[in-house]
Amino acid sequence: MSVPEPQFDELYREVILDHARRPRNKGVLEGANCHAEGMNPVCGDEVALDLLVEEGRIAGIRFRGQGCSISVASVSLLTERLEGRPVAEAEQVMAAFKAMLTEGAQPGRELGDLEALQGVAKFPVRVKCALLCWNVLREGLQQCETAA
Ligand code: ZN
Repeated sequence: MSVPEPQFDELYREVILDHARRPRNKGVLEGANCHAEGMNPVCGDEVALDLLVEEGRIAGIRFRGQGCSISVASVSLLTERLEGRPVAEAEQVMAAFKAMLTEGAQPGRELGDLEALQGVAKFPVRVKCALLCWNVLREGLQQCETAA
């Protein structure tokens, strides 16, 4: 089952289309020390994340998966924003991103290009697409913590 892609310009800003067409950091991460994956059955989106967490920092991150433009753009933007950043910062970005999509919070500077996904907040079905990779990230980071 799949949800038709809505035809709303505000949902498909240039940044989103660019990342959906040419996703960044897609592939396998050699030497990853944790891995998580998930899917959004409503839309059929699938995301798997490889993470290398060293000394409290996301030293490497790669994703695999398939899905709608929103889910692919979200994970591509996630990897670009968080690679090389401290885990604590990733937690802050995650919280800000969720607040923007589920509570209508205004995006702060910490979100960077992820702000492009703000329009998704108006489309509850699409919010699940955008949040999928963040839920996978949370699981992955928890696994890294347990492994460390
Ligand atoms: Zn989707």
